[in-house]
Amino acid sequence: MTVGETAAASTLADLIRARVRDIPDYPQPGVVFKDITPLLADGAALTAVVDALAADHGALDKVAGIEARGFILAASVACQLGSGFVPVRKQGRLPGPTFSQSYQLEYGSATIEVHQDAFSPGERVLIVDDVLATGGTAEATAELVRRAGAEVAGICVILELEFLGGRARLPGGNVRSLLVV
Ligand code: AMP
Repeated sequence: MTVGETAAASTLADLIRARVRDIPDYPQPGVVFKDITPLLADGAALTAVVDALAADHGALDKVAGIEARGFILAASVACQLGSGFVPVRKQGRLPGPTFSQSYQLEYGSATIEVHQDAFSPGERVLIVDDVLATGGTAEATAELVRRAGAEVAGICVILELEFLGGRARLPGGNVRSLLVV
């Protein structure tokens, strides 16, 4: 990184730190929820975050967003890059034939789905979400992209909760987080 790039990165990190709100004990006791709605409501901050998520991926065919907050970010990134947007949704919400992937949560399990025809063979796909926590959701999404015949070009999030070790579940996944806490 050049001095200018380092300064820009720390400005962006400061901006995210100032606009993401901690909500203790939501949605359950013991969890600190990272609420990005103040950041979404700030036009300059939202633009800076979308620009950073969209930068430096080389040619991309699709941007996949993880329900629900990932949709907002991924669709904005896709518009900026002129790529298509693909929703990765919770079980039962997509109308067409889907691939499904189940994964373990801290308590219980979850299933996410993508349309079987969402990608053409070999397409390069960027996965976007708001928060990387244990990495289970991103790992399952990457698996869905591969099962649907496409290639994972990278995984981008605004915020990475480092203490949960999600990055270790995504080896070779080319993970970029704009802020690590
Ligand atoms: P994980 O699969 O554990 O990496 O969880 C990531 C998914 O759950 C993302 O879609 C996040 O939106 C959401 N998530 C997990 N933990 C948090 C948190 N502390 N604050 C906000 N969202 C979270």
